[in-house]
Amino acid sequence: MSRTQKSEDLFARARALVPGGVNSPVRAFGAVGGTPRFMASGDGPYITDVDGNRYVDLVCSWGPMILGHRHPAVVEAVSEAVSRGFGYGTATPGEVELAEEIAARVAPVERVRLVSSGTEATMSAVRLARGFTGRSKVIKFAGCYHGHVDALLASAGSGVVTFGLPDTPGVTGASAADTIVLPYNDVAAVEAAFAAAEIACVITEACPANMGVVPPRDGFNTRLRELCTANGALLIVDEVLTGFRVSRSGWYGLDPVDADLMTFGKVMGGGLPAAAFGGRADVMARLAPEGPVYQAGTLSGNPLACAAGLATLRALDADAYAKVDAAALAVGQAASDALAAAGVPHRLQRAGNLFSIFFTDEEVRDFAGARSQDTAAFTAFFHSMLDQGVYLPPSAYEAWFLSASHDDEALNRVADALPAAAKAAA
Ligand code: PLP
Repeated sequence: MSRTQKSEDLFARARALVPGGVNSPVRAFGAVGGTPRFMASGDGPYITDVDGNRYVDLVCSWGPMILGHRHPAVVEAVSEAVSRGFGYGTATPGEVELAEEIAARVAPVERVRLVSSGTEATMSAVRLARGFTGRSKVIKFAGCYHGHVDALLASAGSGVVTFGLPDTPGVTGASAADTIVLPYNDVAAVEAAFAAAEIACVITEACPANMGVVPPRDGFNTRLRELCTANGALLIVDEVLTGFRVSRSGWYGLDPVDADLMTFGKVMGGGLPAAAFGGRADVMARLAPEGPVYQAGTLSGNPLACAAGLATLRALDADAYAKVDAAALAVGQAASDALAAAGVPHRLQRAGNLFSIFFTDEEVRDFAGARSQDTAAFTAFFHSMLDQGVYLPPSAYEAWFLSASHDDEALNRVADALPAAAKAAA
């Protein structure tokens, strides 16, 4: 019997019913091959699959588990909420507290609305920006991911931009036609787009981490702010990934550029489905029921998700952030050192406590650079780490996520696995 037999069996059953056998594509290991592991439980920095294999988790549920799995304060808060009821479809106290917690940390958020996913947050923010400005066109950047919103999936390629074609079948030409996709970090391209068209909004990841980590050049976000202001457009800064992770106030805490609207998710739900968008009071006042821009959700502000999110945010004190920062610093450096020792071309790119490793020796400043990496080398590296009990994101285009629970023992396990993985990638 293979040591992943139960995952293999479950994957076969899942594939018969669920496209790709998964409910979110990257989980299928499509880019790296092999059997995706079906997880049974998590504990601090570790996850354990259905066959009983234990891994140091460097995915952390793609960001939310910043305290590690089953942090006692979060378990207690959710258990307490569960004991009272699951949801009522009414306003509840936790929603007010979570809204206050977000607004207290991120100054541009004067008012906020809770939703259940990052996708809903960006979709609603773009709709609100269009409703507020009375304009249609949206600027987004190639390689930035804002969830699977039709208009925001158009992502790259000069042909795509030139012909206004959607990137994904099912996204109509009409819904992509108002999306202008520009190369990231390219101020001149943004200036030219503003000169050529009336723009409703620019949406950008606060610091892109969905093509791997590609930090904004100095002043890039500030220039976006200036151009939006000068042209009557709104700036939407997407902090779904960075929010409450890179600092108490997210990327805004490191690079305080005032957005008109911001989006949040991941950490603010503590592992349960909660997300938000918020910003300028006069813009948010356009939302129903105060204004005419409609937006709603059966499970928005779900009490269990609010309890998990509040407990997570409240447990994230300076000590917790110091631990996340130190763990990210250590793992990034150790991986880079091991790859260097094995002679594997790579770039370690950091932004605050975010990092990723690109398997290329060129600095990556945009999507084209990210796509030039040697994904075969990453695949070999990934599988060696997995075999040695370290669970990396199964894609070369993702950030690695650490938590405050990644202690010396977990970090040593990662360090021990790196030399063989680097050799496999050489
Ligand atoms: N925005 C950013 C920056 C993200 O990283 C993500 C998800 O990875 C999203 C939006 C979409 O969030 P969700 O997957 O919760 O819909």
